[in-house]
Amino acid sequence: MTRRWLFADQLGPHFLDDPAQPVLLVESRAVFRRRAFHRQKAHLVLSALRHRAAELGEQAVFVRTETYGEAVRDLGEPLSVCHPTSRAARGLVQRLGAELLPPRGFVTAPPEFTAWAGGRRGLRMEDFYRDARRRLGILMDGAEPAGGTWNLDAENREPPPRGVTRLDVPEPPEIREDDIDAAVREDLDRWERDDGITFIGRDGPRLFPATRAEAVERLRHFVGHRLPAFGPHEDAMLAGDPFLAHSRLSAAFNLGLLDPLEAVEQAEAAYRAGRAGLASVEGFVRQLIGWRDFVWHLYWYFEPGYRRANELGASEPLPRWFAELDADAVEARCLSDVLAGVRDRGWVHHIPRLMVLGNYAMQRGWRPGAMADWFHRAFVDGYEWVMTANVVGMSQYADGGRMSTKPYAGGGAYINRMSDYCGGCRYDPKVRVGDDACPYTAGYWAFLARNEQRLAGNHRMRRPVQGLHRLADLDALVEQEQARGSRAP
Ligand code: SF4
Repeated sequence: MTRRWLFADQLGPHFLDDPAQPVLLVESRAVFRRRAFHRQKAHLVLSALRHRAAELGEQAVFVRTETYGEAVRDLGEPLSVCHPTSRAARGLVQRLGAELLPPRGFVTAPPEFTAWAGGRRGLRMEDFYRDARRRLGILMDGAEPAGGTWNLDAENREPPPRGVTRLDVPEPPEIREDDIDAAVREDLDRWERDDGITFIGRDGPRLFPATRAEAVERLRHFVGHRLPAFGPHEDAMLAGDPFLAHSRLSAAFNLGLLDPLEAVEQAEAAYRAGRAGLASVEGFVRQLIGWRDFVWHLYWYFEPGYRRANELGASEPLPRWFAELDADAVEARCLSDVLAGVRDRGWVHHIPRLMVLGNYAMQRGWRPGAMADWFHRAFVDGYEWVMTANVVGMSQYADGGRMSTKPYAGGGAYINRMSDYCGGCRYDPKVRVGDDACPYTAGYWAFLARNEQRLAGNHRMRRPVQGLHRLADLDALVEQEQARGSRAP
C-alpha cells in the first residue's frame, strides 16, 4: 500500500485508506519563519501533529526538518496525498511527484459543487446549503426540510439574556496538557529565543483538542449538553463569557481530527430523539455542511486573484495596535475585549469576528488581503482556504457581492443590542459626533458616505444610503472620522 503523506490538517482516521496504511508526517519549521502566527495556534498545530505521530508509532515516518521537500526527497518512496488545503501545498505535492487524491474532510465533492455553481451569477450559501441538504438527505422529512423550514436563523439571533454575565451551560471536559505539549512549549520558547522566529498573541494553556480522542469527547459533550442552548444565543456577545454555547470544535474540524459528517449525524440524532431543538441543530448543521463547505469550495472555484479583490478601494494598512493585538491601547470596550480574546486565546466566535473586528476594518478602509492574512495567522482555526472567502468576500465585501448580497457594516446599535459591552464603555452607541461618539456608529456613516457611489446599485443598501442625507451632522461626522483615521479608538 502506498505510503500516505498527511499534512498537519489531515490528522483524523478518514485520511487513511486503511488503519494500517504507512504514513509520512512532516513538521516543517520554515512555515513559522515565513509569517508570525499566533503562539497558541503554533502550539496547537505542532501538538496535534506530534500526538498523531505518537499514536501511529512505527506505522509512521515522522520527520522534523526545515522544509517538506527535504523530507520527501530524503524518504525517496512513492507517496499519495489527499488533496491539500492550499494552492501552495497542492503545487508542492505536484512538484514532488506524489499522487494527488480527491479531498477528504468536507461533505460536498468538487464535481458536485461545480455542477451546482455552473452558470450561476451570484453564489449564495443558502442555495448551496439547501442543495446539500437534499443531496445528502440531512434534516429532511421526505422531500421537505425537517420542521417545514430550511433556515431557522431568525430564531437564532437573540441578544444575551438580560442581567446575566454568563450563559448557564455545562463546561466541556477540560483539556489536559501532557509531555508532548510541554515539549512543544519548550521548542517554541527556544525558536523564539535562538532562531529569530516570532509569534503574535500570548502563550496559554491549550484550550482546543489536539487528538482525535479529545475532539470526539468534546463533540459528544457538545451534542449532549450544549447544543440545545447553542442556537438562540449564537450571535450574542458577553464580555464575561466568550464561548457561550459554541462548540469550540472549529479548530478540530480544520485539523482534520473530526469528519463533519459524523458531527452532523450526531446532531441530527439529538433532534430526532427530542434532545435538542431544531433551531439549534439546524444552525449547527448549516455551519458545517453549508458555510464551511461553501467557503472551502469558493477558495478553489474563484480564481487565485480573488484574494486581491478590492472593489471598495480599501487601501489602508492594518495599524500596528490591531495587527499586534494591543488590546490595552483600545478604549472602545467591545473592540478592546475582542482583541484581548484573540490575543489570549486565538479564538472569538463568528459575530465578534464579523461585526467587531471585520466591521471596524471595513469602516476604516483597511486592505482586505491584509485582513485575510491576519485572520489566518491570529486564529487557532484560521487557514488560507477558510479566510479567503470569509474575509475578502463576506467580511470586507471586497468582491463586490460575488458571495454575499450586502456589506456586513453595522453601527453601535447592533453591538449594543447583541452584547453587554456598551454599558461599561466610555463611548455612547447613540452618539455620532463629539467626544462620546461611538467609533462604530460614526464609522458606519462615514463608511456609507465614502462608498455611496459604489453601493448605489445595491438594492439592500438603498435605504441606509438614503438615510445618509438626512443626517444634519454628516459633514462634521466625516471630518471627525477622517481625523480619527486608524488610530486606536
Ligand atoms: Fe463598542 Fe460603541 Fe458600544 Fe463602546 S459604545 S462598546 S465602542 S459599540
